[in-house]
Amino acid sequence: MPPLIDVRNISKTYETGSFRVEALRNVSITIDAGEFVSLVGPSGSGKSTLLHIMGFLDKPDAGEYFFAGHPTANLGEGRLAAIRSRMVGFIFQSFHLLKRTTAKDNVLLPMVYTGLGASAAKALKCLELVGLGDRARHKSNELSGGQCQRVAIARALVNDPLVIMADEPTGNLDAVSRQEVMRVLKDLNDRGLTLVIVTHDEEISSMTGRVVRMKDGAIVSDESRRRPAPGGAAAVTLPEARLGFSPSEFAEQLKVAFKAIWSHKMRSALTVLGILIGVGAIISLMTISEGFMKDMLSATSEETASTVVVSPRYGGSKKTRPVTFADLEAIKAGVPLADKVTPVISRVLKISAGEKNTRGSVGTDEGFSQEDQKRGKGSLGKLKLTGRFFTTEENLNRARVAVVNASLEEKLFGKGGALSNEIRINDITFLVIGVMENRKGEGLVGWPRAYIPFNTAAKRVFGTSRLDSIEILAASPGEAEEARVQAINTLRASHNLREDAENDFDVSTAEASIKLFKDVMNKLSLAVYSIAAISLLVGGIGIMNIMLVSVTERTREIGLRKALGGRNADILIQFLIEAVVLCLIGGGLGVALGFGLAWAAYFVIKVPPTLGAGTIAFAFGFSTLIGVGFGFWPALRAAMLDPIEALRYE
Ligand code: ADP
Repeated sequence: MPPLIDVRNISKTYETGSFRVEALRNVSITIDAGEFVSLVGPSGSGKSTLLHIMGFLDKPDAGEYFFAGHPTANLGEGRLAAIRSRMVGFIFQSFHLLKRTTAKDNVLLPMVYTGLGASAAKALKCLELVGLGDRARHKSNELSGGQCQRVAIARALVNDPLVIMADEPTGNLDAVSRQEVMRVLKDLNDRGLTLVIVTHDEEISSMTGRVVRMKDGAIVSDESRRRPAPGGAAAVTLPEARLGFSPSEFAEQLKVAFKAIWSHKMRSALTVLGILIGVGAIISLMTISEGFMKDMLSATSEETASTVVVSPRYGGSKKTRPVTFADLEAIKAGVPLADKVTPVISRVLKISAGEKNTRGSVGTDEGFSQEDQKRGKGSLGKLKLTGRFFTTEENLNRARVAVVNASLEEKLFGKGGALSNEIRINDITFLVIGVMENRKGEGLVGWPRAYIPFNTAAKRVFGTSRLDSIEILAASPGEAEEARVQAINTLRASHNLREDAENDFDVSTAEASIKLFKDVMNKLSLAVYSIAAISLLVGGIGIMNIMLVSVTERTREIGLRKALGGRNADILIQFLIEAVVLCLIGGGLGVALGFGLAWAAYFVIKVPPTLGAGTIAFAFGFSTLIGVGFGFWPALRAAMLDPIEALRYE
């Protein structure tokens, strides 16, 4: 049977600046399974370096190391991590327990990196073995030094290692605790476990079975007092590198991430601010515009979808040509697809009743005749009407009748007082025959409005041949486009436009207005998205910054995790998860903020925001991306730390 540890002619040299320290010179030693070896010598003689090499935490510059007969020179990082995880248990002078963590959880830690799942029962058994069965729930800061070191021993035992490597395990302890810990270690050796401890304390070394003395990087003496019974060891195969991540490891990493974030609440809160604002801006815009879209589409009844609107063409170099009665007549004659043609005029005028007066819109608006409403072709839609609408007859007779909205009624009469009373528009008296519910927006600003028959408006009130627009109602939405073409051709002909001249009027369908709205929204989005992008960039840099701080703060923890069998990938993922969790918290709060803002905006624009699953998915996907993007470098730095240097980091 080959020796468990077989070190042949290894050397290790450290170079720091102009200094060259030969920490190990041509050292050879074999250790059999079941031995209890102490490495003794003055400080700086190379004891720890030798221990680290034997424990796979470090590699020699020259020489060979066989472990249970297997050469170890060409093992990769993942394989070494697996060996540390399954075959070696480490104990350190300064315990290296996780802060604010129970004894049990500390002992569970190495099991996370085996990929086999953690067993609380096993952890408890190991704690009992070191006499701490009753302290499992105590946190590391509630235990004495000796108890802490015994927890560390239990942690070293939990994966059933072949050998325990202890570096000055009693160095930080008082005399009583030293005895306590040594008794536990001796017990373990009596049960057949191999132990190698580094010490400079003769009293400690005298309790071991074999004392190896070192000086200036070389072994100067090697005395055995007790030898293990030969032939106890079985053949050992080295474990393979672990691939992927076990669920228990993932759970542990999430726990660590939340703990890290929670233990720095203020810092974390400030860190996620940038993400929160960026995501909030995007979400509020998305929900508002989605709400607008939904509102518009739902308001686009069959009737609106069938409507073609002719209006003056604004902008451009030429003077705006008004829409006239002549146009109205031309369309009535030249658009056979038109089911109905309605002229629209609206002006802001003084409206009064008795002593009270106000300014408000006076308009004919769309087809408001009772007949139209009855046919379902009126523009009243779902608005509630008390009283009645004017009739076609009243229109022809230029009757002085008016329908007022709730705002106007309230201003001039008070609630419920308008019906059958008189109002004056431009000092012409009108009888109120109907009161209509406010439309969206009107109610909000309390905008007064009165509707009067078209002929009354044109001939008696406005005295103009100019129209605001002409509405052409096609028989169905499908015919709207064709009606639009007919209207364009008719108007071009009646305006005598040359073949190559542009239209001097606008003809739009509901579809076209939706498209226009989308265009405007897209331009607005671009502005908001750029602001959000800057905020997210700043947020991302904040995340990166805090992650770098976090990595530095937890350097020793990283060293410990590696010593306990954590792979580079485990460390990388752990910090990536932390960055992503931070970003997701920011993103989640951002969604809440954005939705809140959109609801606040609801009270101004009266459009309920719509929070789609796509929007939420986008926010969280984006946050994850930022977390991974900006967390990668800090995580990589953590993953690439040298375990020994990390453990020594002050
Ligand atoms: P011991 O454990 O016996 O006190 P070490 O094995 O820790 O000794 O160190 C042996 C020598 O190597 C010492 O002189 C120490 O200063 C040097 N040494 C150890 N680690 C490093 C390092 N990372 N960089 C430079 N010198 C080191």
